Amino acid sequence: MPWLAIAIVLVISYTIEASENQGAKRLVWPTDASHLITSSFAEYRDSHFHSGIDIKTWGKTGYKVFAVADGWVSRIKVSPYGFGRALYITLNDGRTVVYGHLQDFADRISDYVWNAQKAHGQYSVELFPGKDEFPVKAGDLVAYTGESGIGPPHLHFEIRNAGEEPLNPLTQGIRIEDSIRPVISEIAIAPLDDRSRVNGSPVPYFATPTAAGQSKYGATVLDNPIRVQGRIGFSVKADDWAVANGNAFNVYRITLQIADSTCFETTYDQFSYAQTRKILLERDWRFDVQGDGKFVRLYRHPKNTLPFHPSNLKGIINCNDYESPIPFRIVAEDCAGNSAEVRGELLPVAKSVDSENEDYLNEIEFLDSQEGAISITPAFFDNYLSVALPAKTTPRGRPVGWLRASTMPMLSWQRNERGIWYGTAPLDFDYSGQVRLPIYDDGAPDAGALCYATWQQWGVRPNRQRTITFPDSQVTMTFSNNSLWQPICVRFDSAKYPVGGFPYLTRAWKIEPRDIPLAGNVEISWKIPPNQTALKQIGIYRWSRRDYWKILTPVAYSDDDAIDAPTDELGIFALIRDDQPPEVTPVFPKDGAVVTTSRPRLVVHIGDVLSGFDEDGLRMKLDGDPVISEYDPDAQTVAYRPHESLTSGEHQLTAEVRDRAGNVTTKQIVFHLR
Ligand SMILES: [Zn+2]
Repeated sequence: MPWLAIAIVLVISYTIEASENQGAKRLVWPTDASHLITSSFAEYRDSHFHSGIDIKTWGKTGYKVFAVADGWVSRIKVSPYGFGRALYITLNDGRTVVYGHLQDFADRISDYVWNAQKAHGQYSVELFPGKDEFPVKAGDLVAYTGESGIGPPHLHFEIRNAGEEPLNPLTQGIRIEDSIRPVISEIAIAPLDDRSRVNGSPVPYFATPTAAGQSKYGATVLDNPIRVQGRIGFSVKADDWAVANGNAFNVYRITLQIADSTCFETTYDQFSYAQTRKILLERDWRFDVQGDGKFVRLYRHPKNTLPFHPSNLKGIINCNDYESPIPFRIVAEDCAGNSAEVRGELLPVAKSVDSENEDYLNEIEFLDSQEGAISITPAFFDNYLSVALPAKTTPRGRPVGWLRASTMPMLSWQRNERGIWYGTAPLDFDYSGQVRLPIYDDGAPDAGALCYATWQQWGVRPNRQRTITFPDSQVTMTFSNNSLWQPICVRFDSAKYPVGGFPYLTRAWKIEPRDIPLAGNVEISWKIPPNQTALKQIGIYRWSRRDYWKILTPVAYSDDDAIDAPTDELGIFALIRDDQPPEVTPVFPKDGAVVTTSRPRLVVHIGDVLSGFDEDGLRMKLDGDPVISEYDPDAQTVAYRPHESLTSGEHQLTAEVRDRAGNVTTKQIVFHLR
């Protein structure tokens, strides 16, 4: 062989090997729609991780979907929710790939599904074909892209290991072009207890690295050192792009280095469905609830057992262990190896957060008067509360806070550089009752309280069942053994709740702490006021963070004339009657229309205020016979396409729509087929 040919062979084999090192053996790209992704692995969805990648289909449906390697169709699931029409192919290497939101399956599979739907008399089916029924080869056409289930048109593609755990497709043989660095747009540093401060404050501190200027090396240096005391934790907001101006993705890995050693690391390679709700611990739920955006926590909640982090790393920094400035470095990487970096310095403040001297306090005789004092609202964090002294209450000496009605210790006080006094105290999770917190001036002990806060709290701990009765005795809330990941102080907030013109049957309640996620459901039981009829129309609703009333389901009616329903979030709740029937509007065909296609897709739009729909409340009949219609919860449509050609002449389509409150609307549509 001439030397040039040898050199070429060497170069080629080297290139292949280098790219194979990125992950497993390369797979066939799953569709001819595009080579672009619009979502990546482990992105934040409602209380769960995105379990695959989404491939762009340009807002359209009907692109071809291919087997990515040799294997067999092992499962087919059809549902109005989730992945809609989904196809599962088990590959010969034991992994399973999942295609979601399909419009249809390839011919033989499509007939197989249709026969099962006919046999079951319903749209939703789940089928497990035998290994020999639908064998596939890499590149075979298996389905068509669509928009079934939740979301606009796109192809959801997922790879699972033999244990059904989703794996990151971009490290499993699916490759995309990506030469764009991730961007770290914001970092947050949070004090983790009542003795900790960041820049003199007990409230988390946010810094925006991009404002300091992004260098061409992808590294940003924060100008000012951040003053820290006690135990702190970092969170970071980072995004990745594969094409300029395209969709932002989850990054692949984030590393936090403190004083040149790795303090925390998150790598999104795989997770298990059983743990997917723990995204509420892995992302910063509080910042999300407050509207600060989706931050990834770079310190571990004790109940975060997700496999993204090396088990020995906790990410909590005890600043009291350091005497000199602490350099930190945060690196965000994507699957293609592009990275971005933020560097800065933490400046440990030698002085510890002051604690009150109880002996000294006992010598002062404080008056219990709150007359003329200003009412203040504490901020509650995971395990401590903080109060900021209002500017107009400048004390002559030190402020003194006294949690009189409880066993809580006194507040720790510190003044920040702008002269604001902050007081903090650990929360007492074993105390339930009224808490009164008057704040005095030890330079003027006889002058009465400077200001005061007061609230009612119920301490609840994980793995302990606890029922709380609301102050009006009409509502109870029961925490089960599985409701909590951490102890909380439940509080009823008197702040205003949205009205919206709906018929509230009793007053609404705002239940805190909304900014601490629940591990599981909490049962609410709400007494129905006397003399109510049509009880099925009454439901318990929670005000959604997307600004609408969401009914809690499943509803149960208990013996003592109460409605019971579970919630997996705290927030604003109300008892509301839904007595308005749904609306049904023909989309195609309109009533009296002439239709020229023999297998028309018959579509009605459905709408409802308050309770909304379940799949089993939606029925369609064609010429008096029930048909297997398809519900699209996003588009709020019910549709049916006849499997065989209709005869010419008059046809009658009937849509019967029932909302969760039992209100029914029936619509008849007559059309002519020419
Ligand atoms: Zn998806």
